[in-house]
Amino acid sequence: MFVLVGQDLLNNPETLTYQLAHEAIHCLGSCENTTRLEEGLATYFGLHNSKISSLRSQIETTNLDTHRRDCLTDIVAMFDINPAALTILRGNAIPFELIKPQQIVELGANDDLARRLCFPG
Ligand SMILES: [Zn+2]
Repeated sequence: MFVLVGQDLLNNPETLTYQLAHEAIHCLGSCENTTRLEEGLATYFGLHNSKISSLRSQIETTNLDTHRRDCLTDIVAMFDINPAALTILRGNAIPFELIKPQQIVELGANDDLARRLCFPG
């Protein structure tokens, strides 16, 4: 698997680690049928598991485009409801796109959040 990055990222190690952490989550998916759950998790993981500082993370969060911010909001809501949700959902390496809203509801989310997380991302 390859992750292509531009010269601008190579000149900015903080942003490079954010982007690589983000893409690492996408590497767990099919790379074809991304869901909002996957995009939110990738964004969350990039913001919290890279070398960017917490202050920079806050700034990056406010600079996200609307779609990524919405995906991030939904995954954070899921983590607030059930911090182990992703561990449970992905426990058997089930592809993100095969996770069904009902599985998310069973972990405590309401129907609207569960459906949104399964939308194409
Ligand atoms: Zn992404």
